[in-house]
Formats: sequence, C-alpha cells, structure tokens
Amino acid sequence: MDEYSVFNSPITFQEMLDFLDYTQRSNKCPTCGQEDRDWRFHLDPGSPDIGDSESGDMRKRWMAVFHMPIVGIQTHQITDKYLPVVAIECDQCSHMEFLNVFAIERYRRAKPEGTKNEQ
Ligand SMILES: [Zn+2]
Repeated sequence: MDEYSVFNSPITFQEMLDFLDYTQRSNKCPTCGQEDRDWRFHLDPGSPDIGDSESGDMRKRWMAVFHMPIVGIQTHQITDKYLPVVAIECDQCSHMEFLNVFAIERYRRAKPEGTKNEQ
C-alpha cells in the first residue's frame, strides 16, 4: 500500500506551514478560542527522523496522511473510498482539524518554481 501514489511526494511539515500561510488560516482555535499556543502537526511515524526544531531540518519531516472513509457521492477523482487528509490539533483542547490533501497538492502544483521552500 502506498498512500502517496497519487502525489508527487509526501507533504512536508514546511509545505504544510506554507499552505496554512497561503490560505491565511487563523491561528485561533474555533473550540477553545486560544490563539497563543502552537497547533500540533501530526507527522508520519515513517518519516525520516531529520534534525530538530533549532536547525529547521525537522520541517522536512512528512505529514501523516489519514484515510477518511467516504460514504455517498464522491467529489474527487479517486478510485478508492477514502479521502486523504492531514491533521492538526489544538495544543490546549485537542480540537482536531483535517485538511484535504488534494487541496494541498493543487497548491503545490500551482506554485511557481523558485518560490518553493526547499532547503
Ligand atoms: Zn482549542
């Protein structure tokens, strides 16, 4: 099983940060209202163990991809019955948000060369 087969490559932590910045998402949790603490990014346990937060290399780690079961009408060009999503979690109340991997992939593909944050 390869959950990344429809994508160019795993979504990195840095690409996730870029996507959140691009979409101008609020840092405020819709459940508890906190906006001063960081969100937890759920990373793939199979991701290479690269660097630490000080070196910045940890931003090359991969986001975990969850397969959300689909019931009913399919809205995406996928052949299986799952929608791939990545998850972020409020550090205070554990409210979780799931973001559509197809939207992130569309963003990655539309991004002009030269603006990618590759280190
Ligand atoms: Zn919260």
